[in-house]
Amino acid sequence: MGDINKDPPETGVLQDSLRSEGENLHKQIAKRNGEVNRMNKGELRAKLRDLKQDTRGTRAVLQKRLKHCYKKNRLSKANLRDPASINHFYDNIIVIDFEATCEEAKPPGFKHEIIEFPAVIINTQSRKIIGEFQSYVQPVLNPRLSKFCTRLTGISQEMVENAPKFPEVLNQFKNWLNENNLIFEGEDCRSFAIATDGPWDMGRFLLHQCNDSQQPLPEWAKKWINIKKSYCNFYRTKRLPLNQMLEKLGLHFEGRPHCGMDDSRNIARIAIHLLNDGCNLRLNERIRLHSGGKPDFRYRVVCNLSRRDFESLRGLSKPDVINNEEESDEDTENEDDEDLGHFENPDEVDIPIEMMAKLRMK
Ligand code: AMP
Ligand code: MG
Repeated sequence: MGDINKDPPETGVLQDSLRSEGENLHKQIAKRNGEVNRMNKGELRAKLRDLKQDTRGTRAVLQKRLKHCYKKNRLSKANLRDPASINHFYDNIIVIDFEATCEEAKPPGFKHEIIEFPAVIINTQSRKIIGEFQSYVQPVLNPRLSKFCTRLTGISQEMVENAPKFPEVLNQFKNWLNENNLIFEGEDCRSFAIATDGPWDMGRFLLHQCNDSQQPLPEWAKKWINIKKSYCNFYRTKRLPLNQMLEKLGLHFEGRPHCGMDDSRNIARIAIHLLNDGCNLRLNERIRLHSGGKPDFRYRVVCNLSRRDFESLRGLSKPDVINNEEESDEDTENEDDEDLGHFENPDEVDIPIEMMAKLRMK
């Protein structure tokens, strides 16, 4: 993405011709989108079947899929590649879904400790799962799991007693990242981004666990993709729990809910559907850092990362936006409740003029 957008814009006659070609394509794709908007579910499924596409999911999902498909085909007819296929922000997405100690009564001030650390790598080019990591973790503050916790997560006392403690597991995870050539290179990192279902895996469990175990919070954990947010923005739904996100795609939860590994695999299935349907997953949440680069636990620690913040981080927009980055305090939802806020307009049609030449197939 960065390379494409950092190239100097086309000039003069060439730019004019590209602009008019772009506008023409834009009109044609918009017209198709209008037709898709008027189709009922049966019509959508029939068209998708003809195009050898997945026909599962709600009407809104099918519409999104068909629009993406038409757009890709129209671009290819014009000898242009689909921007999403060469333009994804990350080579890999790593889905993480922690399980933690818990009590049924949710006692105030209870300190959750991570007891399962799973991760699934999705390669964004092949859109396949290419690796997995999993370890149970021995809790220290509350070494005995409540019956409720075992019932919820399927994790027994024995499983955590035989497991390494958090600093060692975090180290194993870092080694696994290295072994898989997943190197975090700072804000401009293309290699991978973390994805979670909701804000709390990074914003509560990992942040607090690192603090309690006196481990620095890893750089890769300070910003992440909240898949729930990506999903509801892309398919235009309210915030949904994991099983309902799957159901709207015509899928069912596979495995055991609240098993961290199974949760991660199911979140990964959703991420793959989003990618297939043309959603360019990007970071959308971050830890709010205060002076000294540390979070202040007296305040809300998770906040929204807007598209503009993201573009400035990636060097895709003007420096004055970059300077505002730390001041951006658009808040994320406080709990994973219904929230229709923060909708962003996923650009279904637009083909940036400066990309036209790059999209031209050789
Ligand atoms: P999940 O990713 O939904 O499986 O949840 C992650 C962690 O949140 C669990 O391991 C629990 O520590 C906690 N948790 C989830 N659901 C509940 C619940 N209903 N009551 C108490 N804690 C929960
Ligand atoms: Mg879970």
